[in-house]
Amino acid sequence: MLSTLLLAWYDEHKRSLPFRGAGDPYRIWVSEIMLQQTRTETVGAYYQRFLAQFPDVSALAEAPEEAVLKCWEGLGYYSRARNLHRAAKEIMEKHGGAFPRTVEELRALPGVGDYTAAAVASIAFGVPAPAMDGNLTRVLSRVHGVRQDVGQPSVKRELLNWARQDMPKVRCGDFNQALMDLGATVCVPGTPECDSCPLRPLCSAYREGDAEDLPIKAAAKPPQEIQLAVALITCRGRIWMTQRKEALLKGLWVYALLEDAKGPKEAQEALKSRGIHAAFQKELGAARHVFTHRVWNMTVYHFQADTMSCREGRFVSLAEMRALPIPTAMRAAREHAVRLLSPEIRPLKEAALPAAAQAYAESWKKSHAAHCTEAFLALHTPERMADTLRGHQAKGRGVFALYLTGKAVGVLVIDQAQNELVSLYVHPDFQGLGIGGAAVAFALKQLDERRDMKVTVLQSNEAAIRLYEAYGFCRIAEIRPLDEARKLFEEDRIRPRQETEEKDEA
Ligand code: SF4
Repeated sequence: MLSTLLLAWYDEHKRSLPFRGAGDPYRIWVSEIMLQQTRTETVGAYYQRFLAQFPDVSALAEAPEEAVLKCWEGLGYYSRARNLHRAAKEIMEKHGGAFPRTVEELRALPGVGDYTAAAVASIAFGVPAPAMDGNLTRVLSRVHGVRQDVGQPSVKRELLNWARQDMPKVRCGDFNQALMDLGATVCVPGTPECDSCPLRPLCSAYREGDAEDLPIKAAAKPPQEIQLAVALITCRGRIWMTQRKEALLKGLWVYALLEDAKGPKEAQEALKSRGIHAAFQKELGAARHVFTHRVWNMTVYHFQADTMSCREGRFVSLAEMRALPIPTAMRAAREHAVRLLSPEIRPLKEAALPAAAQAYAESWKKSHAAHCTEAFLALHTPERMADTLRGHQAKGRGVFALYLTGKAVGVLVIDQAQNELVSLYVHPDFQGLGIGGAAVAFALKQLDERRDMKVTVLQSNEAAIRLYEAYGFCRIAEIRPLDEARKLFEEDRIRPRQETEEKDEA
């Protein structure tokens, strides 16, 4: 009787979900694991992305764990992803790639509990196994008037018995899904929509008028509050990260997490004990992340290290950081890290001149080292480069300092009158971090797109030439020997003027 009413309702009202209708046990399994502790609306996009990357159990088994975690990034409860991965390997190794069909075999896979085993077995293989999730527990406790704590093992068994009795011999998967849908859309927590419920004629809670009080659950223990300092340690434009070994967030990449460090001083001491010597820069903000059993109350600090040597973890660039799987708990810290690692370009002020000139001198020497004598290179001191920069300023050129993690690490000089990018130098320690690209993009905005733009570059500087070519510059005929004996040639490059649409004045 219950199943007849329920399935008739389901045929008309079932939810249209991206993972519905798949008879493939792999897809059902992935969706059921994702749906644990995650809202249905959130799962859709992750499910599509996961299947695009790992279309079947063998693709998942062969993937590196880090790729699986990266794909899972943002969904939380990462042990689910690690277990999916381990279970896929087990299916390949112990079952020859064939998906297990019984509840017992499924239950033996890592991360598969009673609920998931029953859901996959019933939906994919028609096994009559009730999938007792929160929805089924709520609906069945109301319908059958179960008025004891549903967390008690004896009460759980009672509800399971009811579900077994109610389950039809056919359409077992639909029966489970129908109860899930009814619980999600009609027999919802709090006040249910009894007027539109197909089970109203059978429902004890409806008759007794106590649906809002069911199911009965003992109050949960409040989660443990934990104070955490999150140290963003930068060095030469990179940031320190480590891969978690602890059970919570295992395998994911995080910044330095220092439990019970109440301020920057304690955080610095805690870093020292981990072999990282870094100077405190500033406090960046606070963040809070709630897990099931604990809450992280985080304060994010910026530290600067002098050296990238460390006993554990490693320093990564912004691009590398973006490719690593990072948990949602680190979202606020990650945003600060992105800001720290993104280049900034500001007009050069006297206070920044020594650092900018130092970067200029180091970079100039590196790019000319192959062709110039030691004595000639030694002439290019930071003081001389500072004079050169002052000279550009005196000529009315735009002189800018390039900053990364708050440090001046390069210079950019543009001449708006000549529409020319005159100089672009980035300290060798900070090259390959996207600063040059950001500076060229910035220069293009300052110059006039409607005229040819000019830049002069050393012919041997292949990295710079690649950069300018990426921004539309091409070589023009002129090649100027700076010093023919040492094969030091410069070439002029232009970025042809951009056609702009001119509106006719009526
Ligand atoms: S009648 Fe109301 S309380 Fe009973 S199952 Fe339906 S929605 Fe839930």
